[in-house]
Amino acid sequence: MDAVEIIKKKRDGLALTRNEIRFFVDGYCRDEIADYQAAAWCMAVYLRGMTREETTELTLAMAESGEILDLSESIGTVIDKHSSGGVGDKTSLIVLPLVVACGVPVAKMSGRGLGVTGGTLDKLESIDGYNINLTHDQFLEHVEKYGIVLAGQTADLAPADGKLYALRDVTGTVSSKPLIASSIMSKKIAGGADGIVLDVKTGSGAFMETIDNARELANIMVDIGKGAHRRVTALISDMNQPLGRAVGNAVEVKESIETLQGNGPADLVEHCIVVAGHMLRLAGKSHVQDLSDIRPLIEEKLNNGEALDVFKRLVNAQGGNIDQVDNPGLLPQASVIHEIKANRSGYLSRIDAHEIGMAVLNLGAGRKKKGDPIDHAVGAIINYEVGSQVMDGDLLFSVHARSEEDALQAEERILEAHSWSDAPVEPLPLFYDTIFSD
Ligand code: URA
Repeated sequence: MDAVEIIKKKRDGLALTRNEIRFFVDGYCRDEIADYQAAAWCMAVYLRGMTREETTELTLAMAESGEILDLSESIGTVIDKHSSGGVGDKTSLIVLPLVVACGVPVAKMSGRGLGVTGGTLDKLESIDGYNINLTHDQFLEHVEKYGIVLAGQTADLAPADGKLYALRDVTGTVSSKPLIASSIMSKKIAGGADGIVLDVKTGSGAFMETIDNARELANIMVDIGKGAHRRVTALISDMNQPLGRAVGNAVEVKESIETLQGNGPADLVEHCIVVAGHMLRLAGKSHVQDLSDIRPLIEEKLNNGEALDVFKRLVNAQGGNIDQVDNPGLLPQASVIHEIKANRSGYLSRIDAHEIGMAVLNLGAGRKKKGDPIDHAVGAIINYEVGSQVMDGDLLFSVHARSEEDALQAEERILEAHSWSDAPVEPLPLFYDTIFSD
């Protein structure tokens, strides 16, 4: 087999066989195929696309390029979730304790944020001492002992994806649906997941700006799941406005704790109940796609404090300061807080997630490039949602910043991100669609 022939075949729009895909992925991993050849191949895939069979083969080849985690002895059926990333998306911090409180252990590897989309690891590191760097053995020991573990990647999962992703990043080939889908699914499969809930965001603050694109990406991933004998549920969820109110790191941890105390904003609570419900369904705890049989249990665990207890157990097990969970006022606090009031009455017709994400990133809560340091204390609290009626003088949002100058810049951008209407406006849906593999 020959790398050049494989590149030419894809360039001409033909489907590659399993063996050709394996040859290319394995050869690239072993440095037998050069970066420039892999770059040409990525561009050919970008322009010509891939069939579902090719995409599944690519996923499996990447998943099998490194270690495949086996958690079956530690927790039996392994259920994982993945969010395609968004602004104010603190779902994992709430959903994982909820699922565990409902009787299903979870072991999750999360990532850091990049650009406007925040990362679970960065949020967790707002808590003093929280250790995201567990070894492979510690990761297994924690899930067996505590029923929950939430850390960074412990093993060399899907190294082919790491190598190809870095190449895509510098060759204009990131936004190819088969390449994105195989990249995400290869890591989930390598992480040992039997069931996967995909939270595919769509809107201004998401990777996929249109619902059609998000749906297509979700369908590809569900088909990969079927081809790889995994159960997958993909939710298409809104990311035109931030999820919940808090955007940042410590402020999002605080909001997550409040939600686990039963005092979360309605949109975030509902979103988390649905994601948790689908995870529990994949674990066999619910037998209906509308989750009506499991919803009462999830609500009970949210309202009776059991999910909060699981979160405390998680923080304690990973070395975090539990006092900051009992008293979120002890989490990192910004030195400058500006409160911005509405200067008119009306209905909110747009609260642009991308613009708010950018404002908070510029405050120092996110990274412009990999490895940049972040400030856990800064962020914003957006008090209303699209469709809310606001009166002149109501507190519209607040900015938590390091300096007056930073606060003023963010304030201007976040104010611009709010659009008004004199007439009532329909609220945005939380979900647009749900796609099941079964
Ligand atoms: N997330 C991933 O893991 N891979 C992609 O290609 C895009 C988003």
